[in-house]
Amino acid sequence: MPSGAPPTLPPPPPPYLPPQQAPPRPPPSPTSTLTRTKTPTSIVLGKYQLGRLLGRGSFAKVHEATSLEDNKSVVAIKIIDKTKTVDAAMEPRIIREVSAMRRLQHHPNILKIHEVMATKTKIYLVMELASGGELFAKVLRRGRLAESAARWYFSQLVSALHFCHQNGVAHRDVKPQNLLLDQNGNLKVSDFGLSALPEQLNNGLLHTACGTPAYTAPEVVRRKGYDGSMADAWSCGVILFVLLAGYLPFDDSSLVAMYKKIHRREFQFPSWISKQAKAIIWQLLDPNPDTRMSIVKLMETSWFKRTLTAFTSSNNQQESLLHDRKLKHDMVCNGVNAFDIISLSAGLDLSGLFEGGNDKRKEKRYTTSMELDGVMERVREVGERLGYRVERGKRGVVGLGKGRVVLVVEVVEIAELFVLVEVKVVEGGVEFEEGQWLDLEAGLGDSFVSWDSAIG
Ligand code: ADP
Ligand code: MG
Repeated sequence: MPSGAPPTLPPPPPPYLPPQQAPPRPPPSPTSTLTRTKTPTSIVLGKYQLGRLLGRGSFAKVHEATSLEDNKSVVAIKIIDKTKTVDAAMEPRIIREVSAMRRLQHHPNILKIHEVMATKTKIYLVMELASGGELFAKVLRRGRLAESAARWYFSQLVSALHFCHQNGVAHRDVKPQNLLLDQNGNLKVSDFGLSALPEQLNNGLLHTACGTPAYTAPEVVRRKGYDGSMADAWSCGVILFVLLAGYLPFDDSSLVAMYKKIHRREFQFPSWISKQAKAIIWQLLDPNPDTRMSIVKLMETSWFKRTLTAFTSSNNQQESLLHDRKLKHDMVCNGVNAFDIISLSAGLDLSGLFEGGNDKRKEKRYTTSMELDGVMERVREVGERLGYRVERGKRGVVGLGKGRVVLVVEVVEIAELFVLVEVKVVEGGVEFEEGQWLDLEAGLGDSFVSWDSAIG
C-alpha cells in the first residue's frame, strides 16, 4: 500500500475532463445516454452509433462505432459493465486506465482516448480505432516475422514505452493482446488498465502483482517492490523473442516449471535469430532487474538504431503499405511447424489460467487416446454433420467453414496414443458463439478431454 493512502478511502475522481465537453453528469436513469431503438442492432450511444464487436477483454467489450455528427469517423468504444464486475478493485482500475491514456495522447504508437462517458451501470471509453486488429493475430496465423519486420514493430513498441516511462507511467501489461495495428499497419499500444501512475509509487517502486504470466517479469511475480520500467523492459524481451521465433521463450504447461525457467534464464534461441538480436533478448530477459538492459540502453544499440530511418517515415502511408506487403510475404515464407504452433498457442493462452473462464477464448484444445487417423476422420465427420465446409490441409490439419466462420483444427500425435487436438477460430470469431463450441464438443464425444480444464 502506498503511504498516505488508507485502503478504505474511495478512489479520487478522475483527474480529467473530456475535451470541449461538459463533465459527465450522473444521469437520472441508466438509459439516458443509451437509446435503444427498435432493432437491437442500432444502438445509439450519445453521438455514436454502435457497430460490430471488435473484441472482449477481461473486463470489457469493445465495439466499433460511427460518429453521428459526420457519419463517417469511426472509433472504438470500450464498454465496461460495472454491474458485472463486482470486484471492488474495478473502479480504480478504470480510473488508472483513463488517466494513463489521457496523459500519453501525443505519441503516434499509443492508442488515443477521445472521451469518456458513464451511466450508473456502465463506463464508455471512446478510443481511436485500431482497425488492423491484434498484431499477434497475424503472427499466430502466419508464423514468425523476418527480422526487419519484427524490428519495425518492436521499435514502435519501444518508442511508445520509452515515452510512457519519460512521463512517469509504466505499462506493466505489455503482451500480444495489447499490441494493436491501425489501418496502415502501425503499432498502437493499448490497455493501460494496469499501469501505475506516479502518485501510486511508493519509494519509486511499484507494489501490485499484475500483468500476464509468460510476459511478466520475475520480480513482479515475486511481489517484491519493483521498477515498472524495468518490468516493461523484460516484457519487451519476451515480445521480441516471440516476434522472431514464433513461439514463447519460456513456456510450460506447469506454471511452476515455467517460472523456474524464467528465474534461471533457461531458454533456447532458434538458430535463425541474428547474433545481435540474441544479445539484446538475452540482456532484456535478465531475471535480475538491477543488471537487466533498460529501454534506454536498448535504444542505444546499433541493432535498434538500424530501424530508425524506417520508423521515422512510418507515417508515410505508401511506405507502410509497401512494408506490410513485404511483411505478408515474409510471414508466408517463414512457416512454423506443428510444435511451434502448440508452444506458441499454449503460451499465449496462459492468461486464461489466471483470468478465469476459458469460455471467451477463440481456441480450445483437447487430448484423446485415439489414433491420429481416427481423430482426423472424426473431425471431418463431425464438421460435415454440423454443416461446415470441410477442407483438408497438410497432414494433421482440417479447415472448417460456415458463413464467415473459419475454424482450423490441428491434430498432433504427442506420444503413442496421446493426440492433441487444437481448434482455432481464425475468422468470424464474433459470430462463433458458445453454442457452437458445445455442438462441436458434443460431436467429438467423450473420448476427447479438454486440455485446458485438465491443466487449469
Ligand atoms: P481489457 O482491458 O478488458 O483486457 P482490452 O482493452 O484489451 O480489454 O480490449 C479487448 C480486445 O478488444 C483487445 O484485445 C482487442 O482485440 C480489441 N480492441 C481493444 N481496443 C481496440 C481498439 N481501439 N481498436 C480495435 N480493437 C480493439
Ligand atoms: Mg486487455
